[in-house]
Amino acid sequence: MNRRELLKRGVALAGAGWWGQSAWLPTVSRSGGTPSSAEGQIMTVTGPVDPATLGTILPHEHVLSRFGEPPARRPDYDLAPLFDTVVPILEQVKALGCTAVMDCTAAYFGRDALIMRRLAEMSGLHLVTNTGYYGAADDRYVPAHAYQETPEQLAGRWLDEWTDGVDGTGIRPGFVKTAVDGSGFSDIDRKLVRAAALTHRESGLPLAVHTSGNVPAAQEQLAILREEGVAPEAWIWVHAHNVDDLDALSDAAEQGAWIEFDAIRPDTIDRHVALTRAMKERGHLGRVLLSHDGSSYPPDGTAPRPYDLLFTQFIPALREAGFSAEEVRTLTVDNPRQAFTVRVRT
Ligand SMILES: [Zn+2]
Repeated sequence: MNRRELLKRGVALAGAGWWGQSAWLPTVSRSGGTPSSAEGQIMTVTGPVDPATLGTILPHEHVLSRFGEPPARRPDYDLAPLFDTVVPILEQVKALGCTAVMDCTAAYFGRDALIMRRLAEMSGLHLVTNTGYYGAADDRYVPAHAYQETPEQLAGRWLDEWTDGVDGTGIRPGFVKTAVDGSGFSDIDRKLVRAAALTHRESGLPLAVHTSGNVPAAQEQLAILREEGVAPEAWIWVHAHNVDDLDALSDAAEQGAWIEFDAIRPDTIDRHVALTRAMKERGHLGRVLLSHDGSSYPPDGTAPRPYDLLFTQFIPALREAGFSAEEVRTLTVDNPRQAFTVRVRT
């Protein structure tokens, strides 16, 4: 019986023999579903990192992307211009004080773990990649097999990536990335979220779910997590800055969910400061994540969107709005460290 079949049958994944054999992987033993080497760590493309050693973390950027292009499991990147464009952007944010970037580009629209590891080595910045499927953009990047398979089977695929590496590279993901469409909550969206919850339960990987302003879908996701015995602390409400209903955000934060305001741009700084202040006033500063949803290598013809504004404009704007240095640290260091630490939350 292989591991995926074990999962399907609800058998605990305690058996030996399915662990990735890649030579560079640390020796691990399993207890409680989480490899001991990863429990309490943040899993980067160059291996597990102690969160306490990290400073400012950007929880939602796109280091690479082919978003808008036809789906492709492994995109065909032209490496020379890619490195010429992306490495200086990574070096720039590192110089500004960034220590880690979470790459939210999912499978089928640009994820490439080998290039990510090379970029991490070239820039000296910690980079984190993901497993999971992206169910927004009218399901354009959802592969055909996802419609046929059960949530358990999909979780089995993502857990294979967790243990053996993304696309079999041995480079392990640091979180599950999935997405739901902007309105309604389709069967496939529901299935992806359930598969993500199952993946979390076995791996402790955090779940970043593009949900945007779809408040009913957020509430349904939290219900699915509950059904699967997963705590809201495992779940990040991605693109929550598109929500106008502050009560809905408060309610999710109250339950323990992470609320991510992740489109810091020159023209959104005022709105993001206002949203962050509203969460602070409601006692939820400890649940907020901040990022740019930048894109350092978008498809041809599109200018890169670097991810430096947090450092150059947004943190100064927060300070001007009365946020203390300690509160800024909570938002930019402590919260993302906690959110992305591998740990089963049940
Ligand atoms: Zn994004």
